[in-house]
Amino acid sequence: MAKIIDGKYLAEEILTRVKSETARLQQHGRQPGLAVILVGADPASVLYVASKSRKASACGFHSRTIRLEDTVSQDEILEQIRQLNADEAVHGLLVQLPLPKHIDTQTIVQAIAPEKDVDGLTYSNAGRLASGGSGGFTPCTPAGIMYIVRHIHGDDLSGLDAVIVGRSNIVGKPTAALLLAANATTTIAHSRTRDLPEVIRSADILVAAAGQAEMIKGSWIKPGATIIDVGINRIPASRHSGEKTRLAGDVEFDTASIIAGHITPVPGGVGPMTIAMLMANNLTAAYRAAGADVPELS
Ligand code: NAD
Repeated sequence: MAKIIDGKYLAEEILTRVKSETARLQQHGRQPGLAVILVGADPASVLYVASKSRKASACGFHSRTIRLEDTVSQDEILEQIRQLNADEAVHGLLVQLPLPKHIDTQTIVQAIAPEKDVDGLTYSNAGRLASGGSGGFTPCTPAGIMYIVRHIHGDDLSGLDAVIVGRSNIVGKPTAALLLAANATTTIAHSRTRDLPEVIRSADILVAAAGQAEMIKGSWIKPGATIIDVGINRIPASRHSGEKTRLAGDVEFDTASIIAGHITPVPGGVGPMTIAMLMANNLTAAYRAAGADVPELS
């Protein structure tokens, strides 16, 4: 039976460091600031943004949410970004995705100043990560995944096979860059992969980020593997639970947890790590803006 990885506990480790290093920066009269732009009222996005804002306040940050109607024009969003890029009280700036269809996501994301891009999605930050450069920002979910992987396997993954299911810019690709940098033999699988179960069977470390509820079955998993389930899917709940829906990952937890060595639950695995890493990135941005040495946070 697999060990269940407690993402909330690991996230608290990071948040405790963030809080104490925030207090240290504040002694020098500087308060980290995080601004989030939310366009429209997608229920999941509203919840995510509220939770980021609450966590930012709990860390001692100045937190600002800019809510825009879903009919807003691209130019109006770009104008908001220009103002926040120039605002010295704001150290980290992110635009909650997805954006409405009439907005070009890349145009918006690439307008964020790279030194405030705490989601790590600008070309400059993505390029630094891909080419092994330092001084940028690593996207928060991949950074959280790697914290979990290091917790289990240590810093050096030499000799281990890692498989990531999903090739998005926000999860799959940056996670692959990090696993590769840690010496894992890294494969990215996706919706066009032939024989996904066979690819997954080779994984000592499996990162599931496809957004397909319980798609990966226990019988596909190598005995003893580490399973990091990134997927967040809402599915109908069983009749006796009293709830209409429940959250599920991309991995069928009941069958996979019998075979795996370690597994993250959904919820309570990668989710809390993502938000903790966002706070760590934002504090890093504030330290850099102050011209101070950045403390070790994760
Ligand atoms: P995305 O939709 O941008 O990318 C999904 C990827 O999965 C694509 O590359 C696609 O090729 C691949 N894919 C889809 N169906 C597949 C299939 N049947 N077989 C193999 N590959 C398949 O998604 P994303 O933004 O990377 O997010 C993935 C999941 O992770 C979603 O459920 C999302 O909600 C969740 N997520 C969670 C967190 C967190 O903090 N826990 C953060 C970001 C995303």
